[in-house]
Amino acid sequence: MPKTALPFTYTEKGLNCFLKSFPQNFGMVKPAKLTKKEESELCLACGECCKRYWITVLPEEATKIARVLNKPKKDFLENDCILQVKLFPKSTPGVLTFPSTFFPKRIFELLKKNGAGNQQSFFVVPQVVLKREEKTVFNFIEKRTKTEKRNACLFLSPENMCAIYEARPEPCKLFPFIAMPGLREQYPFCALFQQTNKNLSVESKIYYQKIQTYFRKIDNFGFDFVWRSPPKKGVLFLNETQIGEIALDELKLMMPKNN
Ligand code: SF4
Ligand code: SF4
Repeated sequence: MPKTALPFTYTEKGLNCFLKSFPQNFGMVKPAKLTKKEESELCLACGECCKRYWITVLPEEATKIARVLNKPKKDFLENDCILQVKLFPKSTPGVLTFPSTFFPKRIFELLKKNGAGNQQSFFVVPQVVLKREEKTVFNFIEKRTKTEKRNACLFLSPENMCAIYEARPEPCKLFPFIAMPGLREQYPFCALFQQTNKNLSVESKIYYQKIQTYFRKIDNFGFDFVWRSPPKKGVLFLNETQIGEIALDELKLMMPKNN
């Protein structure tokens, strides 16, 4: 499984700062608006964005994707998605913040092995992401002259087409105009990023607000309530580094007050 976690970093502090300071900090009062046509002309459809990142799915997006795939949402979540849990050390109380004493021994040992055994509490970020798998795809950057083996989104075809295009999640639609300041520099591979001065989009702000609401809902009502039938297992991150795997049952123990 790929270890790349960027481009979407949802720390509680980061989200709050971002939403408070938007748009003044990013020169977005009068954004340079590219039309969809201009954007699609600049985008090489290289599929690099689908090959590099885990894609977050929100509950309403899962409903739409399941409909397009013509399968029950439960099947989509079970077969096409996994859990992605990110842990960020945190010393003050807040949304989705839990003491490490609640964590199962196996998770605690993983944290210890990765230098976070002394941390008393963590901001726990539980998400559902699209599965990724190794596949043979065209290397579009080298002008489609050769194929290559890449780890990529389950729904990316060898020709770099999206199998769920009309229902693709919001991060896919917003890329590369989604990352918070300081992160966009990590997209040198993206022709659309390189060829425009457009900064973070207004739509991205709306998306981050949705993410914030999603976290608050989980904090208030529980992960199971928000998802009903979430994937049973997935990957565990400490900050932005993948450190192992995690089961849904372990996640529930880590967030006792909301399950
Ligand atoms: S990486 Fe950039 S140029 Fe390539 S498909 Fe994604 S948005 Fe388009
Ligand atoms: S859902 Fe579609 S657009 Fe999004 S990463 Fe997967 S293949 Fe790419």
